[in-house]
This record gives sequence, structure tokens and C-alpha cells, in this order.
Amino acid sequence: MSTAYLPTTNHDPEHIILRGATLIDGNGGDPVAGSEIEIKDGRIVYAGVQRNEEATSAGEGSDSGGKGPRVVDLAGKTIMPGFIDSHVHFGLSVENQAENLARFASERIVRSAANARKTLMAGVTTVRDLGGTDRGVRDSIQQGLILGPRVHLAITPLSPTGGHTDFTMPNGLPTMPAMPVDPIIDTDDDVRRTIRTLVRSGADVIKVCTTGGVSSPSDTPDDIGVPEEHVRLIVEETGKRAGQPVAAHAQGAEGIKAAIRGGVRSVEHGYGIDDEGIDLMLENGTFLVPTLSSALRVPDPKNVPGYLYEKKVKWSAIARERVTVAMAAGVKVALGTDAGVCPHGLNLREEMHAVELGLTPMQAIVAGTKNAAELLRLSTDLGTLEAGKLADLVVLDFDPLADITSLADPDNVKAVLQGGALVKDSAGWFPNSPVRSALG
Ligand SMILES: [Zn+2]
Repeated sequence: MSTAYLPTTNHDPEHIILRGATLIDGNGGDPVAGSEIEIKDGRIVYAGVQRNEEATSAGEGSDSGGKGPRVVDLAGKTIMPGFIDSHVHFGLSVENQAENLARFASERIVRSAANARKTLMAGVTTVRDLGGTDRGVRDSIQQGLILGPRVHLAITPLSPTGGHTDFTMPNGLPTMPAMPVDPIIDTDDDVRRTIRTLVRSGADVIKVCTTGGVSSPSDTPDDIGVPEEHVRLIVEETGKRAGQPVAAHAQGAEGIKAAIRGGVRSVEHGYGIDDEGIDLMLENGTFLVPTLSSALRVPDPKNVPGYLYEKKVKWSAIARERVTVAMAAGVKVALGTDAGVCPHGLNLREEMHAVELGLTPMQAIVAGTKNAAELLRLSTDLGTLEAGKLADLVVLDFDPLADITSLADPDNVKAVLQGGALVKDSAGWFPNSPVRSALG
């Protein structure tokens, strides 16, 4: 009934064959040593064991001046799918609230562009931006004006008055610049009107806050936010449109269960999930996006308000315990960082944290690629490296299965292809291929 929007990227892709690397295709099976990947018109034509040379009509050293594909020797390297960060905020920098409020709107947009570029350079070729970013940023990436990941947008996260996205201090002044669409839903009519406005504005996903949060001034993660009946109403409303999935910011156990019972596709954070909540997720096939990069990171108390620091210390410990239990129980995990709450461009730290809390390195990779593509309903085109899919991939000179921690440093992600076009080649492994840049 429903189709997900497929964000494109406007680069001119080459016809190339990547030969000799170890291939981790995102499906979770054994890596293929000495692999071959052929890319044409931005999509993968072939990915697997090396074919003999006649099958490919291209010899070593052939150049795109001829009619065959260019062959790039990547022996000793590892190729993986481009990662998908299911939870970012390109427009946010929560830890500098006063500074952020003082900025001009234009500067915030330029900063969003810089954050998008950093994220792509870290090896993330697709993201879900779960609040604070409008279609202008997404469309600028599509048009090739700026470099960045493919983007699915929530535009504005929703909560009741006094809830997680009511960014109003008790004195009535804002803690943050205004969201693109009014985030407050208190009544059934508010819900319908706001969902319709978001769909009109280009939302690919709806984000609701079924609990309070750590960064909000007037509530806690134990507080109920958007109630179950409103979650259900939203699912019903999007079901009449493109079936935009609902993602719930949910941290305390009761709000997590309200979200799942209401029909959300993903629970974001999930820090305090109880055993009943875990069972409900397993029953409903709900995804967990644990945002460990933010959960486990306790900020410098000098940089954040006191209420935020205190809540963070408490909920960090809860997350460490309960997310571990949920992952061990086999809940479907898709990785997401909440970048904006933690720094942009260090997204693959999330892989390391997922392993810290019990996933195997291969499970963590699948969570950051295949599972995340499934969450975004983009599995037909993204998430794994197989014939027919878009050629979004990263190239490394180490084995992430043996050393997942090295992924955390974006400098170790040496090359990135997006839609078959080279957007990063810091080690010069593609000597004859142009590296795409932004604004021309
Ligand atoms: Zn978030």
C-alpha cells in the first residue's frame, strides 16, 4: 500500500569494477575475500567472488577513455555498504543552547550543510533526520549543491504542551530556535492538522515523543508524552497517505509500551525498556534505535544546564543496563546516534557502542546497514551490496570484524561512494576517478 521516498544524489557515476577487496555485503554472512563489484549507472551490476577477466570485458589498467569499465585494484582493503544513521539532527547542537539561539537562521542552515558533509565523510550515506531540518537541506543534497547523505525527514518532532519538544522554559522563553512546524499536539484535531501539515511539508517519517526526555526543561523520561490513542490516530492518518512510519522518542518503560501498542515502527532511545516492553517489541517486530552515542556520553557539566546533566547521568546508567537486555533478547536493532545531541561526524562510534553492549561486530554492522534500510523501507535500493542496489559503499584498510573501534574515527574511512560516484578518496585509492565536491 505504501512506498517510501527514495532520496537521490546528483553525481555523475562512473562505470567501474572494484577488484580484490574483502566484501562484507551487509547480510551478515561470511565476508568474501578477493571480491569483485561492478557498478554502472550508480547501481551494482555484480557483487561477489571475482569473475574471470573475459566475463567483465575489462583488463587491469583499462581506463574510462575506452569503452570498458575502469578497474580499481582494492586488494587488501575491505568494502562495506554505506552506513545508515537512523537518528540525526543536522540542525541541532543541543550542548550550546545559548550560542545556538544567538545564531542567524542563515548560519544555522550553513551549519546543517557542514554537519551533513561531515556525516557523509564518516561513511554514512543515508540518514533519518528526526527533527529540526526542513526539505531545503534534503533537496539541496539531491541537487548536488551540498554534499551529504540521502535524507529521510521528520521535520518536527511532536509532543504535548510541556512535553519533550515544547522547548519553552518555565518563564515562557524558548530554549531553542523554532521548529519548521509547530510541535505541540494536545487534542485529536491538533494531531490531524499537524500530521497533514507535516505530510504537506515533505515528511518521510513522523516523530512523536511518548515520554519526556533528558534535554527538555520541564519533564523527565518517566513522564508520559503523546498518549497511545494519539499514536494510533497518527498511524491511522499516515495510513491514508504514503504510510509514513512513526518513530517514537520513548525512554521510560510506560511510554515505550504506549508507543509500541499505538503502532510505531521504531522506538528511539528505549533506555528504560522493561521485560514486558521487550516482549511487545518482539511480538510487533518493532525496531529499537538505541542512540548509544548519546546515551552513554555524559557531557561536561559546564556546557549544559543542571537539569540536563543530572538526568543524563541517571539515564545513561539505565540505558546501559536495559538496552543490553533488549539486544540480548533479540529485538531488531537499527543503529542511530542522535547526532546533534552528540557530535556530528562521529557516527560510526555507534558500531563500537553496540558491540560494547553485547552485539557481535557482524550484528552491529547489519544493524547499521541492512536493518536500518529495512526500518526506512528502503531495502529494495539500499542497505546491502547486491546486484540491483544503489552503489553506496565505504572502503577501509582494516578488518572491522576484528577491530570495530577503528570505524569510530572518520579518518579511517578512506573512501566513500554514493550512488556509484566517489565522494571521498583520502588515500588516493581511485587514482583516475574524480572526487565529487559540492556547489558545482
Ligand atoms: Zn533525537
